[in-house]
Formats: sequence, structure tokens, C-alpha cells
Amino acid sequence: MSAWKILLTDGLSDTGKAILTSKNIAFDDKKGIEAKDLLECIADYDALIVRGRTKVTPEVLAKASKLKVVGRCGVGVDNINLEAAKEKGVIVVNAPIATTIAVAEHAMALMLAMVREITKADSGLKAGIWYKNEIKGNELYGKTLGVIGFGRIGSTVGSYAKAFGMKVIAYDLVATPEQIKEHGGEPVSFDELLQKADFITLHVPLTDTTRHMINAGAIAKMKDGVRIISAARGGVIDEIALLQALESGKIASAALDVFEKEPPLDSPLVKHPKLIATPHIGGETQEAQKRASADIVNEVLAALEGEPLRWRVA
Ligand code: NAD
Repeated sequence: MSAWKILLTDGLSDTGKAILTSKNIAFDDKKGIEAKDLLECIADYDALIVRGRTKVTPEVLAKASKLKVVGRCGVGVDNINLEAAKEKGVIVVNAPIATTIAVAEHAMALMLAMVREITKADSGLKAGIWYKNEIKGNELYGKTLGVIGFGRIGSTVGSYAKAFGMKVIAYDLVATPEQIKEHGGEPVSFDELLQKADFITLHVPLTDTTRHMINAGAIAKMKDGVRIISAARGGVIDEIALLQALESGKIASAALDVFEKEPPLDSPLVKHPKLIATPHIGGETQEAQKRASADIVNEVLAALEGEPLRWRVA
């Protein structure tokens, strides 16, 4: 058994646990541990692996006298106090690429469900209604897809869309025109994308520059009857502006996996017939979760051993 001791507080798929076992690393699986119990036991551990539930607060870090690394099994690190971790010299790592395929496939699923009205067709049939003559969908083939945020997920969606015969235009704050072209996209400005796209899919993080980047002003520049997909983060779209545009018909339909407030209970937007909604499940495939658990375990072990890190966030 190695000297390291790892605490798991939000569960970990068997793939990650098998890596720890094969390397004789001691770990305690305390899935669902209460915050007060975490404060009591954290001093025993060299590493902590969490998902989004556990709050790694300054108080937790203050008690973590042996802690060298916190691993976030997934992407978002908003549940970890990065400043406090930095001050304490605790490394923070995540597993950002594990969910890329899952989210990209989900964006395509939303796009297809939207144009073929799959949810209406299915719920109709379950209620005994045969919408054969009412549902006349559209094809993706030949349409222009505007990808906002052409990083890992956005460029993957772009490549899937090309396989459907779509033209892919992309806007990204950082990616160079060459990088966008390399991944099969045509680089355009934000306004050009809004004006030219038949479909717009969002794949940016939520930051000061992306909050409400799809607002009433941006929507006004879009084609009439445009369709919008977001599996990025709630807050990138101004939901009030989106609802108004669905009601006026400016936006023909939208499909969202993420919301400004989650869960978005009693939201008139979610109830709108031209909106398809899923409960932030973009990254939730069994394959992605296995991949994330292996990635985070390997990254945490690398941090403990002082090896080079791929995904250090603090
Ligand atoms: P990434 O960092 O690879 O790509 C994001 C891209 O957005 C980058 O290329 C960046 O330059 C660009 N960008 C940032 N600010 C921008 C701006 N103001 N305008 C234009 N482009 C901008 O990240 P990724 O792995 O592709 O993830 C993208 C998003 O997907 C993130 O917000 C992430 O949180 C979200 N996500 C959602 C789920 C889900 O379950 N729905 C799961 C994982 C990730």
C-alpha cells in the first residue's frame, strides 16, 4: 500500500477505483458525506476527489493539513475555492476532455429532436394522437450552422454537423482563423454569424464576456426563423429575450440543456411548446463518466507524485 490516502466524497465510477486498487493506493469512498463530517476527517487525506456536490470551502482547506491536491471529476470548478487552495498551496485539477463527445452528441440530439419535433411526436403517440399529417420537419442538410465557441465541444459539433451536410461557420474569441479552418469551420465575426446562421449552437464558458451574449440585440440581428441550441452554461442566453423571440416567432425553436437557474421549475420558457429542454445531462453518459474517473485519478496521482500535469486549474 502506498503512503497516499485519497478521499472520495461524490462517488467515482468503478473505472477510477480500479486504477487506485491496481496501484495499491488507499482510498475511502464517503459518497454523500455531510459538510460537518468532511471538516472532521479531511486532515487524514493527501488528496480529495469530488464532483460538483462537495463544497471545497476555505474552512475545509484550513483543516486539510496533509492535503496536496483536489481533483474535480468533470469540468466546472465553481464548487472549489480556488483562491483559498492557491493560498494553501493545494493543487486543483479537473478532467475537461472526458465529456466532450457526450456534450457534442447531445447538442446534435437536441438539434435533430428540434427539427423533427421528436418530443411532440413521441408524447402525441403516447397520448393516442397520430401526428402523421401535422408534423412536417426540416432537414439539417444544406443549412448553415453557426458555432459560438469553437473549442473542444464546439469544434466536435462542427465536425458532426459537416457529416450531416451542413455548412459550418464559427466565432471564437481566442481560436485563430487557421485553427477554425483546420477543424472544418469558416471563421466569421459574431455579427456575421448571427446574420448568416440557420442554426446557432453555443459552446462557450460562462464568463463576463459571454453572460447574456445572446440577448434581445443579438437576436434582432439573426435570420427570421433561426433555431438555437445551448448545452453550454445557463446565463449565456438571456432567457427573457429568448422567450419573447419564441413568442414572436423570430426564433422558430430552441433546445436547451442548461438554464440560468437550475432546476428551472415553473419557468414559462421551459413550458413553451417551441422549446425542448433537458436537465443538464449533456455530459452524463456512462462512457464520459468512466473516462472522467480515469482521467481524474491519473491526474491526482500525477500531482501527488510531482509529475507534469495536463489539467491544472490552480
Ligand atoms: P473549451 O475551453 O475547449 O472551448 C470554449 C471556447 O469558447 C474556447 O475556444 C474559447 O476561446 C471560447 N470563448 C470563450 N469566451 C468566448 C467569447 N466571449 N466569445 C467567443 N468565444 C469564446 O471548452 P469546452 O470543453 O468546449 O466546453 C464548452 C462549454 O461547454 C463550457 O461552458 C462548459 O462548461 C460546457 N459544458 C457543458 C456540459 C453539459 O453538461 N451541458 C458539460 C461539459 C461542458
